[in-house]
Amino acid sequence: MTGRPETGTSYFGVGDPAHAVRDLDRFREAGLDAILHTFSERDREYNRKSVREIVAASADRGFRTYVNPWGVGGVFGGEAYSAFVARQPDTRQVRNTGERAPAACFNHPDFREYMREWTRDAAALGVDVVFWDEPNWHVPAWDDKGAPEDTWCCRCDHCRKCYRDQYDEPMPATETEEVSRFREESLVDFLEEVMAVAADAGAANAVCLMPVETTDYGLRDWSRLAASNHLDILATDPYWHDAFGSTDKPKEFVGSFATKVNNLAATNDLESQIWIQGFDLPANAADDVRRATRTAVDADVDSVFIWGYDGCRTISEIACEEPDAVWNAYVDELP
Ligand SMILES: [Zn+2]
Repeated sequence: MTGRPETGTSYFGVGDPAHAVRDLDRFREAGLDAILHTFSERDREYNRKSVREIVAASADRGFRTYVNPWGVGGVFGGEAYSAFVARQPDTRQVRNTGERAPAACFNHPDFREYMREWTRDAAALGVDVVFWDEPNWHVPAWDDKGAPEDTWCCRCDHCRKCYRDQYDEPMPATETEEVSRFREESLVDFLEEVMAVAADAGAANAVCLMPVETTDYGLRDWSRLAASNHLDILATDPYWHDAFGSTDKPKEFVGSFATKVNNLAATNDLESQIWIQGFDLPANAADDVRRATRTAVDADVDSVFIWGYDGCRTISEIACEEPDAVWNAYVDELP
């Protein structure tokens, strides 16, 4: 151990700063020192001043503040819907089988412009870190049970043109090695652009990759992203129960990914960060949460977070069965 890690939680669902400060004080008393505020498309459109006040109240209490693009464009993690893809349906991704998907394309210039604006607005909230959460190409099989497992995105006009420019041949309709590489390169290129905007605005950048090293879930090889000059924090979220293959082995799952982000962080002068599962856990999960938290702390990662506060009690569909027990286990186990 070289020191105590940063300890944090995600926070969402409370729009009134007067109410939020009570939670912030409670988190501070529990010993946390970082907080991630969600910034959905709706927050950006309607609640920006309120979010800014909550961020300021967090900073006043000594928290390092993070903000994430909650469900923005349908290409990041989170339980928020995208109005952008409804208002600009031409920006949507296209399946290799031709149907449109409910998510914006990383290669569409209008979405790129929208995300540059989102990023400037996010940084203007006064946050320390912009947290790029689980960026991924849309996977049709995730929300359409009728879609074959090997259906992928995106094969829109922009992607096909970019692919032709790079590979000097038409984009195949099946996922060849070149297509996988193109999809990953496109994702990294997108992240580089928005991270540069955040950095210009004075915010640090974190990217949270899902703990599944495939093109569908993000990137097979994390080292190229880790080498980015704009990246400051490399995070992953090894959620062990009913999320990423339902390993139900918190110690092993968290431990192996803590080692992975630590190694990449050491090589690339980054901070490493591990997220602990605090949602969708069954009864009697407190011991697993303790094991996972202890594993991340003992691995000496720079930062440990939980998704999310109070066992996600307020998002009933993904709430833990015993949310308070999960939350208390997390904060108790932190050093
Ligand atoms: Zn596309």
